Parts: sequence; C-alpha cells; structure tokens
Amino acid sequence: MTKNKNILTDGFNRKHTYLRISLIERCNLRCTYCMPAEGISLTPREHLMRYEEIYEIAKIFVDNGVNKIRLTGGEPFIRKDISFIFEKLASLNVELAITTNGVTINRHIKTLKKNKINNINISLDTLIAEKFKKITRRDDFTKVYNNLLLLVNKGFTVKINAVLIKDFNDNEIIDFINLTKDLPVTFRFIEFMPFDGNKWNKNKLVSQKEILTQVEKYFLKDQLIRLQDAPNDTSKNYKIKGYKGSFAIISSVTNPFCDSCNRLRLTADGKLKNCLFSSTEQDLLTAFRQGNDITPIIQKAVQAKFKTRGGMDTLKKFQNETLHGKNRSMITIGG
Ligand code: SAM
Ligand code: SF4
Repeated sequence: MTKNKNILTDGFNRKHTYLRISLIERCNLRCTYCMPAEGISLTPREHLMRYEEIYEIAKIFVDNGVNKIRLTGGEPFIRKDISFIFEKLASLNVELAITTNGVTINRHIKTLKKNKINNINISLDTLIAEKFKKITRRDDFTKVYNNLLLLVNKGFTVKINAVLIKDFNDNEIIDFINLTKDLPVTFRFIEFMPFDGNKWNKNKLVSQKEILTQVEKYFLKDQLIRLQDAPNDTSKNYKIKGYKGSFAIISSVTNPFCDSCNRLRLTADGKLKNCLFSSTEQDLLTAFRQGNDITPIIQKAVQAKFKTRGGMDTLKKFQNETLHGKNRSMITIGG
C-alpha cells in the first residue's frame, strides 16, 4: 500500500518511481569502460545486502511510490540466490526488469518467465568476437550472441546496450542498426561516461551528434523515423522504416536528460545514490540492520538531489577527474 509518495519527490518536483538495485559487485566479464584493469577492492560479504534485506528495503521504496525495479550489478546472474531474489521481488507489485551481460542467462529462462521478468537489457558492444575479447577481457562473444537470439526466440522484450568508443566500435553503428532489420530488439547506443578508474576522456566519446551523422549518411532521409520517447525515457528513439526493431541513443554526456529523471539507485552494499553521478551516498543497510526507520534517510537523500548529473552540470565539470573520480567505479553502481 502506498504510504507517502512525497518522500520520493525531490526539490525539482521529480517523482522517483524507478529503483535500480545492484545485486553484486563481482562480474564474469572485465569491461574496460566499467572497471579498472587491476580490478576493484570487493566489499566483505557481510556488508552486502542479503536477499531478505533486498526485499525489505525494496518494499519500503515500493510502499512510497516506486513501481519499477531493475536488477543490475556487477553481473546479477552470478549471485547464487538470484532465483530467491526474483521470487521475493516478484511478490511486490512492480514491473521487474534486469540488466545483464547475458553470458549465463540461458540457465535462467524458466525462473525469469516464472517471475514475469520480461524486460531484459543485455550488453553487447561489438559484433566481432575478437573485439569482444578485447573490450570485455573474456572470450564469450558466441555465448552472449546466442543468448541474445535465445531471448528473442523466447519472446522477451530485449534491449541491447552498446557503449560506443571512438575508433573501437563506432565503425559498427550501421551494422548494429542493420541487426534490427530482422530482430525485434532495440539497439541502444550509450555515450561513454566517466567513472572512477575507467580512463575516460572526451576524445574516446562518440556523441549523439556523431552517431546521427553516420546514420543520416547511410540511410535515406525518409527511411529514418523518430519515435515517440516514453515518459522518463533516458533515450532518444528511432527506427528504420520496415525494420522489425529500433535503435536509440543515450546521451548522458552531450545531452543529459536529468529534467525527467525518476531514478534512484541502491548499491549492493545497501547505499542509496540519488543520481548515477552523485559523489555522496546514504547508508541504508546499516540503519536497517540497526532496526532504524530508513524513510527519513531516503527522504533526505532525495531532497539533496542535484538538478543535473550530481552537480556536474557542465561538460567542463564532467571532464574534471577530481569531480567524477569521487564517484564509484561503474561496476559497483550498476548503470
Ligand atoms: N553486468 C551487467 C551488464 O553489463 O549489462 C549489468 C551491470 S553494467 C555496469 C550496466 C550497464 O552499464 C551496461 O549496459 C554497461 O554497458 C554500462 N556501462 C558500464 N560502464 C559504462 C560507462 N563508462 N559508460 C556508459 N555505460 C557504461
Ligand atoms: Fe561486468 Fe557489466 Fe561491467 Fe561489463 S559492464 S564489467 S559485464 S558489470
């Protein structure tokens, strides 16, 4: 039962109805844009949320107006209790979704179906096996590609996330879009974002403008259709006339979409982040374990949310490593 939707409304009247929960800090891939080559220091297991705690904390958000939860990580499917987590969260009255690298998802089709988790975002940054190995530091292209086809065959709603990096995969943009000719998927191009330890620099970024320039060069003007974006959508959506699928651009760097942000993030160690880019976080898990009411902490965090990108409202600030370096590595946030 909804208690008080107002605690999730921030100072800019943004209503937060979408909670992203990171289930784990570990991963079976090592994507260069997501984590440093030397790895990250892992939080001791006892400081991570157990599945009952994930449920109880998520329930407080749902009671206060959250209607969508996306599970992420690290790689959510390497959590051994993933099916318990699905079951517990499926008992809340929310849309449940997951973001995964897809390496082992074939083993979980039944439990996804059973718990009505139909929206799957799968990450795939290249269609070339050798390049996959380079970017993920693992040789799993075939598994991921086959699993992507499996998900489509099983009737899931599939979005593919590709982080574009200059001179690495920007020459595949048209190939990615052409994949949507016969596959009913949405291919989402994500601008490469700066996080702690990912060696970001602006020259590696492929901007929304550059993506559209390539698209407009290759396709005829009347082939490119601009689709209506859903409310709170982070992406600008397009399709090519006659193609079964669509594509989208997530331009967090060159054209942020903070005005319609409805997201909050809970990390695997139970910290609340009011923005993907915030350098501060609130410790919900410790308070919860001490038996305290965590709603005032949530309320305070929501109220403290900056208007734009955790306060990095200009590209200049965004490029300042001392500012974005205060944030975690992406692998411990979850996207
Ligand atoms: N392991 C899962 C996966 O790869 O989909 C879930 C976690 S991953 C951190 C979530 C999303 O964040 C992925 O789609 C990944 O491509 C994206 N991501 C990671 N680092 C990024 C960066 N520096 N810039 C933009 N997107 C990034
Ligand atoms: Fe793992 Fe996903 Fe990060 Fe790649 S993007 S290292 S798959 S968490």
